Amino acid sequence: MNYLSLPWPWALVFVLSYSSRMVAAVEQSSDQETEPHRRAAARDLTLATEYLRRYYGLQTEPSWRRKRSDSSLGNRLRDMQRFFGLNATGSLDSETLGVMKAPRCGVPDVLDYTDKSGSRWTKRIISYNIGRYTSDIPPATVDRLIDSALNVWGRVSPLTFVRSLSREADIMVDFAAREHGDSYPFDGPLGTLAHAFGPGEGTGGDAHFDDDELWTAGSHGFNLYLVAAHEFGHSLGLGHSTNPESLMYPTYKRQNQHNLLSREDVVKINILYGTRGILPYYYSKTSLSPYYNIWNLVPRYPLLMQDKCNPNLSFDAVTSVGDANMFFKDSYLWIKYDQQCETKEGPVRNFIPKIDSNIDAAYSVPQRSLVYLFKASKFWTMKGSQVRKKPKSIYKFGISKEVERLDAAVHVNDTGHTLLFVKDMYWSYNENRRAMVDSKPRYISEDFPGINASISAAVYKDGFIHFFVGPVVFKYNYVQKQVVSVGKANSWLGC
Ligand code: ZN
Ligand code: CA
Ligand code: ZN
Repeated sequence: MNYLSLPWPWALVFVLSYSSRMVAAVEQSSDQETEPHRRAAARDLTLATEYLRRYYGLQTEPSWRRKRSDSSLGNRLRDMQRFFGLNATGSLDSETLGVMKAPRCGVPDVLDYTDKSGSRWTKRIISYNIGRYTSDIPPATVDRLIDSALNVWGRVSPLTFVRSLSREADIMVDFAAREHGDSYPFDGPLGTLAHAFGPGEGTGGDAHFDDDELWTAGSHGFNLYLVAAHEFGHSLGLGHSTNPESLMYPTYKRQNQHNLLSREDVVKINILYGTRGILPYYYSKTSLSPYYNIWNLVPRYPLLMQDKCNPNLSFDAVTSVGDANMFFKDSYLWIKYDQQCETKEGPVRNFIPKIDSNIDAAYSVPQRSLVYLFKASKFWTMKGSQVRKKPKSIYKFGISKEVERLDAAVHVNDTGHTLLFVKDMYWSYNENRRAMVDSKPRYISEDFPGINASISAAVYKDGFIHFFVGPVVFKYNYVQKQVVSVGKANSWLGC
């Protein structure tokens, strides 16, 4: 059966044929005598073959048909080594075998189902229930740990998890050993600890825990809260991460239970479901909020209309504040709301009285309801349409004194980092720590493959960075590090 052609939840198909007994046997194989040594090597090869079949899509012929040098084995082995940050030698060294023996999740590492449709729930209230319990932990404790593990994701997304007393709940949790009715049998103690199915009907979303493991609420055995939080990542549509900091790293690790999610995990769940649904008060257009002012100021100067649909139009700076998008060009400003056709426009000073000339770059930090406007080596902060006092020096950010002006700036809400672009390089500033991530700038083209130019303006919206380069705009997925689409800059103004 070719599992790669099936929807991913059905990919958990292969029986892991090594057991803890076999792992122990392999570890004893340092004996250099020829016959035991050869047997140990054969066992390592069996272990590796099963591992790569199970987690890396290795297609193997039955042993009687297998060629002696199976090149696909080497390639899959290199895939595995790359995934875990090992030297991609394609040979079965002890470090590689060590990773293969580590207890881990049963979901394969290679299926990139972020590309596949149907990998997210289309509702925000998700039901769950616990079917078969383990005898390792009291049921009330299992209930509490499962609830906490779901809320690891609930806290950073608009999703709400509701216990349902039906077997038809979206996420069914079951403890089971060996064969358990889904044709992905467990393997006894160690090896695979649990597996889960991506969003969907039937078994979709369900999470199964190998009841041959010792489950605990503490630090001996396997901590159910940690493993469940990982599995529920799959239940919501996430795949494995190569980042050891990520909760979605495939092997089991003990970690700080108060802060399970890495930035990457939060970004990925937000890309699927958006951020937590309650918007801060200042996003509301109907309340008397600071940003309301921007929208409603009556122009005090006659409008010098600019041709916004000129095909060569480029922007100096773009930023978005709630659902208002601000486009700066020379001393002119357009403001366009997401769901409206009409554009407000005019000299910048009509909207922001203290700014009377062009600006170089702009970004906004929603949590602070502040907009930052850059001009040469100075920057202003603005709340609503009120610019705060005197401008400050851009060197406060930690930028080198050789820099005379920024090209563009963008705040990535999901990481808390602000990227400051200068020619072919950029600095990354941690807004929470108020410090540069690195003291040195990095090359744009290295960290954003596909973007090989200086940036005119940049804005972060709906999980994407939009890079404006002259009259063109690149929509960029910075988790997958690729350009998603290219369009005309002024298409944002309805042209
Ligand atoms: Zn997993
Ligand atoms: Ca197991
Ligand atoms: Zn199962």
